[in-house]
Amino acid sequence: KNYEEFRTHGKVLIDYICNYVKTIEKRPAFYENLKPGFLAPQLPSDMPENPESFTNVLLDFDQKILPGMVHGIHPDFFTFFGTGNAYPSVIGDMLSGAIATVGFSWASSPSVTELEYIMLDWYAKALNLPDFFLSINSNKNSKGGGALQASATDAMMSFMIAARDRAIKQQKNGRRDSHQPGLGGNEDAAYLPKLVCYASVNAHGCVEKVANLCMVKYRSVKVDADDKMKASALENAIREDLENGFIPFFVVGTSGTTEQGAFDELDKIGEVCSKFQGIWFHVDASYGGNFFMLPSKRYLSVGLNYADSINVNPNKLLLTAADCTCAWVKDVQGFVEAFDVEALYLKHQYEESIVDLRHWGTPLSRRFRSLKLFFMFRMYGLEGFQAFLNKVIDVGEHFATLVTSDSRFRVKNDAKNGIVCFRLNRNDHVNESLLKMINDTKKIHLLPTICKKKMCLRFVVNREYCSEAQVKRAWLLISHYATNLRDEIKR
Ligand code: PLP
Repeated sequence: KNYEEFRTHGKVLIDYICNYVKTIEKRPAFYENLKPGFLAPQLPSDMPENPESFTNVLLDFDQKILPGMVHGIHPDFFTFFGTGNAYPSVIGDMLSGAIATVGFSWASSPSVTELEYIMLDWYAKALNLPDFFLSINSNKNSKGGGALQASATDAMMSFMIAARDRAIKQQKNGRRDSHQPGLGGNEDAAYLPKLVCYASVNAHGCVEKVANLCMVKYRSVKVDADDKMKASALENAIREDLENGFIPFFVVGTSGTTEQGAFDELDKIGEVCSKFQGIWFHVDASYGGNFFMLPSKRYLSVGLNYADSINVNPNKLLLTAADCTCAWVKDVQGFVEAFDVEALYLKHQYEESIVDLRHWGTPLSRRFRSLKLFFMFRMYGLEGFQAFLNKVIDVGEHFATLVTSDSRFRVKNDAKNGIVCFRLNRNDHVNESLLKMINDTKKIHLLPTICKKKMCLRFVVNREYCSEAQVKRAWLLISHYATNLRDEIKR
């Protein structure tokens, strides 16, 4: 294709995107009454024989595909986590697509590796992560570093695989920190049924999923009255498993649980892990870790010094477009050994002096994903992000105040982090009916959640275009349906 065409079409597309964002409130946040299979009848059954015009393709996108989408940036989107589309990140992704490069090794495109490490250092410093996670700007003794992963689940997968590798080597050698490349095969598989990983009942489902994929046991640990993992329950579970001949090898603490926004007490969990030799402590801070940028929230990160690895996602709370999971590890060499496979065509003369990105997980090819961080970090600055995070906190607290000012309702979580879990002071069945009535309106959408063992409605405000006015509008709708619901129950 002629790139001069792109000059024209690209400008049209930028106008289209700007108009989409500008008029987002005019369209519903949710698709209307669609059933699986809605799209195929609207599109040709085969790829066109001859090229079509950009205008026709864009028109089809606008009229057939866009109506089947949920708009995660919409002011009335209070479900899952809102998505990020800040334009500096869109620009970074555009450039990455345009300057198509394969960044699997330093030699394959040196700037891809170097910018990624530099951006992860910038971010780690902004989050005030322990020095040992820095790769370039660290004290000389640091063996750590960070790189990007496609998702928090991918990060979990990479770290669990590395931890599994380490645990098996320890079992074979009877000592910690012995890294021998090239393990694998039937002999190692014999250890799998004994390996156990732990996370709280409120941890994200990806931990269990990854444990299944790694063919290790998954044990969920009880939470306390504030929905945080009970360190004493973790310790008891580990002791019990050890007594029964199992090998505890991986513990996940969560900073900002998906459902309640609860922050596990990392220092208490870390202390438990450190009592037992060889347990890998990972912190899943996908959403909540971003709050560590605020000095007022730093107390939530106490205990990170115990962590072997951590992931934080700018796409969950820093307005950045997915995919964008940042993952750091304390001992990069120990970590990457699990992924190191030699191939002649991948070799280069500097592989002893810098870790190639291909060793950070299962994929080989990598696009220039850190470009979006380069544009985001520079065009927002720490102050820009802090202002946004404070807004999320304020808007969430504003909504919680509206809820608590109505005696029919109760807020059930510590609603200071952009997630508000609330319920009517009635049984679960009534709350389920209220949720259904609200979601059936298609005006706003909330998820059900369990908080302090009760069914709640979960309301999330982590979006750029979400203001106090918008949550007030949503609250009026919720309270209106709560009133109608009462009438319906009376009838
Ligand atoms: N961990 C937490 C705490 C999450 O909230 C989520 C998703 O919301 C995940 C992990 C999974 O994230 P991803 O979609 O990036 O795999």
